[in-house]
Amino acid sequence: MNTTTPIFDVIIVGGGLAGLSSAIHLSTKALHVLVIEKNSYPRHKVCGEYISNEVLPYLNYLGVDVFQLGAKHINEFQLSSTTGKLLSTRLPLGGFGISRYCLDAAMANHAIESGANLLEGVVENITYENDLFSVKTKDQGVFQAKIVIGAYGKRAQLDRQLQRKFIASKSPYLAVKTHVEGDFSENVVALHNFRGGYCGASKVENDHINLCYITNFRAFKKHKNIQEFQEHVLYKNHHLETLFNNTNPVFEQPLTISQISFEAKKPIENHILMCGDTAALIHPLCGNGMSMAMRSAQIASELILKYYRDKDFTRNKLETQYTKAWTANFKSRLKTGQLIARVFNAPKASEAALKGLKWFPSLLPYIIKQTHGELMQVP
Ligand SMILES: Cc1cc2nc3c(=O)[nH]c(=O)nc-3n(C[C@H](O)[C@H](O)[C@H](O)COP(=O)(O)OP(=O)(O)OC[C@H]3O[C@@H](n4cnc5c(N)ncnc54)[C@H](O)[C@@H]3O)c2cc1C
Repeated sequence: MNTTTPIFDVIIVGGGLAGLSSAIHLSTKALHVLVIEKNSYPRHKVCGEYISNEVLPYLNYLGVDVFQLGAKHINEFQLSSTTGKLLSTRLPLGGFGISRYCLDAAMANHAIESGANLLEGVVENITYENDLFSVKTKDQGVFQAKIVIGAYGKRAQLDRQLQRKFIASKSPYLAVKTHVEGDFSENVVALHNFRGGYCGASKVENDHINLCYITNFRAFKKHKNIQEFQEHVLYKNHHLETLFNNTNPVFEQPLTISQISFEAKKPIENHILMCGDTAALIHPLCGNGMSMAMRSAQIASELILKYYRDKDFTRNKLETQYTKAWTANFKSRLKTGQLIARVFNAPKASEAALKGLKWFPSLLPYIIKQTHGELMQVP
């Protein structure tokens, strides 16, 4: 063990939106924070890149101005069925479009400016003994802290080491993302269904259109490659055919990820506070995984500050209150997300749902509200 390294107040494993929000929040309140992130910035990530406005008060509080970075204001939602029937509605709260390439890098810079230490490295193991965590990295030794936040995303080797239940089962979902150039209204986020999945479309800061779809391996494996899958499956929805055929790709190759699991996880494991996707992943069709990541980071950060300020606020209280607040904030929207995903996974149910929504248009904003939170409150 590297005995010369200081003991940090907080080590954050993973520098995505959850990890970086916590890093900025805690560093500005003078805690000694180390973020360990395995990749360098900037970097593209598989993500729809539409963020609900619910996070704006918190981002302002953290000192991150997404509109200065060029984020697009989005206030209209379009939804189409597998056969291309289209519905549109105004988004109750609205959102904005910004690439992860831009946002994560800006937040990482701001975390450093706020006083956080950022280390590029892979965390291999986290152990807890005598009220202290030891975080072992692949090449940079071991770091210690009183508190560890797990913000390493959907799935990692670390989940095996922590013997988390969800990691034992294979997940059938995979996702593909690309950026293209072409015509698309910048105030719109669209969700176009196809047999076996759905594809989101919205603009980001540099006018590129993000096209990101999720499907299951069963639907995908019948086809030779991504292009053939798109032509044979996605293009059956003419909105998708138009989006892919009438635009020019910006990426040489689309990005892909697999093993996307929506199984339940726990917000605390071995005393580690899990934030963002490490605590739970909502179906991307709800379009608010990123706001959940930031909201969970805010909840964890406020409680960690209390832990350091108030001697009576023990570790046990910290863990109990985090679990309680996490459950109150996210349990119900995760459930609604699962229900909606089930409907849209079944072509007949999805057509029927679209028909129903055409008759009762006010239901759509109501459903959107069920999967989103209110504007985040800041002190
Ligand atoms: C297909 C798809 C589309 C989506 N579209 C949207 C959308 O439009 N809107 C929305 O709000 N949400 C969307 N989401 C969800 C959103 O992407 C996530 O909820 C969000 O990225 C979670 O942020 P995070 O910080 O928890 O995790 P991440 O952003 O994944 O960050 C985790 C970080 O941890 C690092 N890491 C992992 N393992 C280690 C390790 N061992 N050591 C060090 N670092 C490590 C990774 O490199 C990564 O940078 C989508 C998800 C998918 C799959």
